[in-house]
Amino acid sequence: MSQNRPSDFPSSDASKNPLSQDTEQRLDELFEYIKIESQNFLGYPCNQSFDYSALDRFVSYALNNIGDPFLPSTFKLNTHTIECEVIEQFARYSRADPKDIWGYVNNGGTEGNMYGFYLARELYPEGMVYYSEDTHYSVSKILRLLKSKSIMIKSQENGEVDYDDLRETIRIHRDSPPIIFANIGTTMKGAVDNLDTIKKILHELALPGHYIHADAALSGMILPFVDDPVPFGFDAGIDSISISGHKMIGAPFPCGVVLAREKNVKRIARSVEYIGTLDTTLSGSRNGLSPLFLWYALRQHGEKGFKRIIQSCFEIADYAIAELDQLDLHPWRNKNSNSVVFDRPTEEIVHQWQLAVQGTLAHIITMPHVGKDHINRLVIDLKKSMSKS
Ligand SMILES: *Cc1c(COP(=O)(O)O)cnc(C)c1O
Repeated sequence: MSQNRPSDFPSSDASKNPLSQDTEQRLDELFEYIKIESQNFLGYPCNQSFDYSALDRFVSYALNNIGDPFLPSTFKLNTHTIECEVIEQFARYSRADPKDIWGYVNNGGTEGNMYGFYLARELYPEGMVYYSEDTHYSVSKILRLLKSKSIMIKSQENGEVDYDDLRETIRIHRDSPPIIFANIGTTMKGAVDNLDTIKKILHELALPGHYIHADAALSGMILPFVDDPVPFGFDAGIDSISISGHKMIGAPFPCGVVLAREKNVKRIARSVEYIGTLDTTLSGSRNGLSPLFLWYALRQHGEKGFKRIIQSCFEIADYAIAELDQLDLHPWRNKNSNSVVFDRPTEEIVHQWQLAVQGTLAHIITMPHVGKDHINRLVIDLKKSMSKS
């Protein structure tokens, strides 16, 4: 059987049946809808600017990365070798010790956060989880699922955790090992919790053990490429990190990466005869295309490419701030963040531009697909809506 001809498989007979007119029409309608909405996509951190056409032929195979990517398995239709390279690259970006790091490509930031908590809870079954009020909504869901003891900590105005509140709360519960959920780029304001300050607090309180998980969904692919990042990686004392793949890198489907200290992963590994390997991941079957697409993008851009891309995201963010400032919408952004926060506009604008909102605030995120023309069109619509009210 030839490698490149999946049409040899009997199941591909279906492709010989012509599409009904109705089906064709439905596909055309859906495609038009997506094309139009993609022109006004400003509020969410999903990069739309990518070209994976060189990988089209891989869609013809049933790839499945079930099991531990670093171990051999009896299930061979996978991209494990590529996945290991992706993990090694992310390990470098997040400044991990190559001798004590493990990871896998998953379904996105939520799964990575759950994995981090799972490891933490196995290590400290009586641990108390601390997370700030600006933390992503996936975290409260995960805590409910894992039935963890947890306390929400106040945030500062810029979205960073309130360190005084954190210190005092940990002090009161010092009999439980702290499990810190640190935001490396909050969802709404792109704020980064300072790991040095957090570690100082833990040190001052002389606690016997702790676990720090970093939620770096978007900024985990920004901070490695800026000149003066605040500490964010394993060298700053984290135990695990979750980074989304479909956010800064961009992909046609959700994906992400989780990395953790290998010694903590070994504690949860179970051998499974049926797949002939260790079960170290949360999902069983996993998308074999995700590692391939991420690997391709990492190679396509390289470190220099990402530096350039991120710099230009910041430039567009500053352009947006200048323009929104002229409309008195009080725009601002955190350092090294491309999330531009401003006064919440009308519901019409929110829907038209797919803006994310929270209370009195809205944000746009200047991802690589966002240019000055998008900002100019947004400003025209904002002006119109303001003159109406
Ligand atoms: C987007 C995001 C997540 C969740 O990521 P998904 O890939 O949507 O599951 C988690 N944390 C933060 C800070 C995020 O911005």
